[in-house]
Amino acid sequence: MKSLYDFNYDEMGEMALAHGWKKFRGHQIFQWLYRKRVASIDEMSDLSLETRRVLSENYELTDLELRDKQVSSDGTTKYLFALKDGSLIESVLMQFDYGKSICVTSQVGCNMACAFCASGLTKKKRDLTSGEMVSQVLYVQRDLDAQKERLSHIVVMGTGEPFDNYDHVMNFLRTVNHDRGLGIGARHITISTCGVVPRIYDFSKEHTQYNLAISLHAPSNELRNQLMPINKAYPLEELMQAIRYYTSENNRRLTFEYILLKGVNDGMKQVNELAKLLKGLNAYVNLIPYNAVDENGFLGVKYEEAMVFYDALMKRGIRCTIRKEHGADIDAACGQLRVKHLRKEDA
Ligand code: SAH
Repeated sequence: MKSLYDFNYDEMGEMALAHGWKKFRGHQIFQWLYRKRVASIDEMSDLSLETRRVLSENYELTDLELRDKQVSSDGTTKYLFALKDGSLIESVLMQFDYGKSICVTSQVGCNMACAFCASGLTKKKRDLTSGEMVSQVLYVQRDLDAQKERLSHIVVMGTGEPFDNYDHVMNFLRTVNHDRGLGIGARHITISTCGVVPRIYDFSKEHTQYNLAISLHAPSNELRNQLMPINKAYPLEELMQAIRYYTSENNRRLTFEYILLKGVNDGMKQVNELAKLLKGLNAYVNLIPYNAVDENGFLGVKYEEAMVFYDALMKRGIRCTIRKEHGADIDAACGQLRVKHLRKEDA
């Protein structure tokens, strides 16, 4: 059965027309879902009983079943949900001084197999529907409603490669961004990709205001091939060309994510290569403290070591920031909570 959360605003109007109703009826339903945030079709009290009956017979509201919830001392909250087919996914709520942000999962598992990432430990089982991504946001927003708080930002940085589930991700964003719905501003939404080059071109042509982040993690093909298998399909030259296309089509600054892995990519050699690679681009580098994953043996660096890397990059004219760690006292790294539960189920 199709979920009502799968329809964006315009599609909701079409849906209503298809049932012989006025388009306006569909838009009314959209507002029930995202403004009033009702949990059932029955609560849409200004629709006739007949309309509600037809809706209930044809559509559902994607239900997420909460399986675990961890709250960190810094307010970071990690949700583990079961989807209808039993698949487990995670969403994370993070508190910043500029607002509240949710990290959304886009796939069950991930096929990108980055060497350092917990999500890559399990192969992709399937793509999420846009409704399943919408429901993650709605679930967390409903939690916040109780405190009269509001989600202001979205990052598509949970488990999965969003550009390997492009259409569903873009449709999801259309819904949460819509001003008749949750109205989360496009400039407050960030999509992170490991570098699926053809989709970077597609994305560039959409001319949205969403932010783009590229998981770089290594400034040479030799090193990036070892860390990120995607680099064998789309090596750095092709990635950088796609990025230059993006910046020429969109007058937006982009972010490069760079996890500092001790003894692997944190040396002066990499600083020099990075500076050369990114010179002149309207971009900045977000240096990420690595969240150790038990399975793979990589180690993070100390804050002082990150500062050395940061200073050296800045000196070479590359803007950068060091990402603040969130939820260090819970299973906060990408996919860690899920992997822990999968293991429990196997045992
Ligand atoms: N597939 C997308 C989005 C999900 S990963 C991408 O690759 O960008 C989101 C970010 O978290 C990526 O930059 C990823 O490399 C990083 N990441 C993965 N595992 C991590 C870990 N253990 N510690 C810190 N960052 C991690």
